[in-house]
Amino acid sequence: MILGLYKKKNIKEIMTRFNAWNVFKNGLNGQTGWSRQWRDPEPKENYEVVIVGGGLHGLATAYYLAKNHNIKKIAVLEKGWIGGGNAGRNTTIVRSNYMMPGNREFYEHSLKLWENLSHDLNYNVMFSQRAHVVLLHSPGAIDAFARRYNIMKLTGSDGELWNLDKLKRKIPHLNYDNVRFPILGAIVQPRAGNARHDSAAWGYARAADSLGVDILQNCEVTGVTRKNGSIESLQTSRGIIKGKKIGFAVAGHTSVLWQMAGLGNLPIESHKLQAFVTEAIKPLLDCVLIYGPAGAAHFYISQSDKGSMVFGGELDWYKSYAQRGNLPTVKENGECAMAIMPCLGKLRLLRHWAGVMDMSMDGSFFMCKTPIANLYLNAGWNYGGFKASPASGWYFADLIANERPHKIIENHNLERFEKGINLDERGIGPDPKMHG
Ligand SMILES: Cc1cc2nc3c(=O)[nH]c(=O)nc-3n(C[C@H](O)[C@H](O)[C@H](O)COP(=O)(O)OP(=O)(O)OC[C@H]3O[C@@H](n4cnc5c(N)ncnc54)[C@H](O)[C@@H]3O)c2cc1C
Repeated sequence: MILGLYKKKNIKEIMTRFNAWNVFKNGLNGQTGWSRQWRDPEPKENYEVVIVGGGLHGLATAYYLAKNHNIKKIAVLEKGWIGGGNAGRNTTIVRSNYMMPGNREFYEHSLKLWENLSHDLNYNVMFSQRAHVVLLHSPGAIDAFARRYNIMKLTGSDGELWNLDKLKRKIPHLNYDNVRFPILGAIVQPRAGNARHDSAAWGYARAADSLGVDILQNCEVTGVTRKNGSIESLQTSRGIIKGKKIGFAVAGHTSVLWQMAGLGNLPIESHKLQAFVTEAIKPLLDCVLIYGPAGAAHFYISQSDKGSMVFGGELDWYKSYAQRGNLPTVKENGECAMAIMPCLGKLRLLRHWAGVMDMSMDGSFFMCKTPIANLYLNAGWNYGGFKASPASGWYFADLIANERPHKIIENHNLERFEKGINLDERGIGPDPKMHG
């Protein structure tokens, strides 16, 4: 029987899988036994499905289209290199503390997919469930978060409310005495944490490629030709490419592609968000920490496996497609870091950068059909789309394959505002830059 299985499987794939034996063997032969992680194919003229955008959402969609729906001819078109957009620029926080119908089930499913992703992809995405700890600064915040986390617990997720004593025992080295906003306790999701963003992109790419998906890098979509209410072809920097079905998963550039397709305005604004990394230090923080009442300040920090402190905060507050940030935001984030952990003051900042966020009017995403018959939209991830990547790929693939939205995403469409369906987790209103 084992021999039969071996015959069925591609022997080369078995030999290059990541497992203890192959890692040991390649350790002895100077790591010369590995093959390319994914192919570099020439574009074909026709595909069953073409996904535009080689970020995490595009790659995950291609993988689940092939794996869950057995679709054969799939291409992912990426204008630069895969994972060079927001996929490789985020602060890697994975959590499922959402409350609104649809969002609740979607992000919980995503967290469950993360929990098994390294095994599923045979690629270590370094998912570390180190807990997501939100500091609470007022009795109102305690009530609001207790309600949210009770809803989570009642719907199959996890959550804990820590009082100040417990918080001080768990994270003793915060600035409890002179911090800008008083700390009364914390709300915690123990199963949340971080993953390695590049690994997730490479893992999805490798797994999708092994199922026959063509990953076409340096392939920018520059034009869209329509015929009889459908997209006939895409003009790209590598020639004309046709797909029976087309999916847009281009995050901060969704409006650009939308207008290329001859459609009007989207309820999305592109804003930039910065991230910061310090030099590496010994272990200091073993969770993801969130500080500051949203609206007054918003700051998140964790420690990477290499030891660097990784942090970020609010948007840069103006619309832009630039992948670099402005100095007042650097100052604001530095102040937040110093306010909550003054011991960081001596650290040198190594790098900071920005990504282009697709901010929607209510802070929730769109995954839906469009006015063009064969075009599907995946967008509006605000600055929470990293954690969403597995479920985003799962449900977008399901939408494209079955040509109808799954029940969980049935309200994540462009018509929800005119129907009065509001998926505003923060309760802040139709101001895209306020959502996160
Ligand atoms: C600083 C920062 C911190 C963040 N922190 C978190 C976090 O902690 N947790 C979390 O859950 N989320 C976080 N996010 C958000 C998350 O990174 C994004 O929501 C998510 O990555 C978006 O999906 P994506 O990976 O598919 O996007 P992208 O990686 O941006 O993929 C879109 C791709 O489309 C390509 N593209 C664009 N135009 C074209 C074209 N014309 N032709 C071909 N290709 C094109 C781009 O090059 C890009 O690679 C953060 C984002 C940033 C910038």
